[in-house]
Amino acid sequence: MKDTIKRYLLNNEVIVTAASTKNLVNEARVLHNTYPTCTAALGRTLTGTAMMASTSRDMDTLFTVTLNGGGPAGTVLATANGRGEVKGYIENPYVNIPARSDGKLDVGGAVGKDGYITVMRELGKGMEPYVGRTPLVSGEIAEDIAMYYLQSEQHPSIVYLSVWVDIDTTVIAAGGLIISPMPGASEETLSFIESQLFHIGNYGLMLMSMSVEECMQKIFAGGNLELLEERTPTYHCDCSVQRFERGIISLGSKEIQDMIDEDGQAEVVCRFCNKKYVFDKYHLQRLLDEAK
Ligand SMILES: [Zn+2]
Repeated sequence: MKDTIKRYLLNNEVIVTAASTKNLVNEARVLHNTYPTCTAALGRTLTGTAMMASTSRDMDTLFTVTLNGGGPAGTVLATANGRGEVKGYIENPYVNIPARSDGKLDVGGAVGKDGYITVMRELGKGMEPYVGRTPLVSGEIAEDIAMYYLQSEQHPSIVYLSVWVDIDTTVIAAGGLIISPMPGASEETLSFIESQLFHIGNYGLMLMSMSVEECMQKIFAGGNLELLEERTPTYHCDCSVQRFERGIISLGSKEIQDMIDEDGQAEVVCRFCNKKYVFDKYHLQRLLDEAK
């Protein structure tokens, strides 16, 4: 099944964003060689960030979500634009901790909750980015994003994120829901959503055998659902030789001279896709000339 992010209007007063992201989470797993708990932590962060960015009207607006919980996985970060292109990394992808007592992967244990979730929204070149930061609730990511919406944007929302990892460590299902009532939504609609919380909590499980459309029809049966738009999320890293050249030049001429003298080359690995770039002596010499 193809990855998708669909946005619906429920009963004319609630925006529901629904995502299925199995393929992109699997791609992230392969690129970063993550252990299952980290596959879930990174996958939830990528999915949540792609969903947040999908609400943007400007395709170039960049959303970056960073979780610093002080857990063994270290920093988890994802960046997405309005086109659905998303990339991310997890500082330590090899966290191996026991599952929780309910059998679920212990994402909160890996991420930790002693810190903050930071959301940065960059509207474009030359414009001040908007940065919001709230304390982590659990490190489980969905609850943390919900708290961010409530405290930083004063917009109460239900956020649900799910990544199911198979015994062979591949991703069987991944996706998420963000349910945002518009200001002034009726009591009737709000209690309807509340009555469907059980189904909402099973969305990840449903995604194993049903399309997003079918899940939505089941979760909100009896409600009036109107599809507003659809975007296709993809794992996309935009790193390039030029980008790393600029990075090396910014180190300054002394640093570059040291690289030439000591190693005769430089190796840089992109933290978003693990692609390796090697700069030989002649290449470094050219960058040194530019830095001077
Ligand atoms: Zn890259």
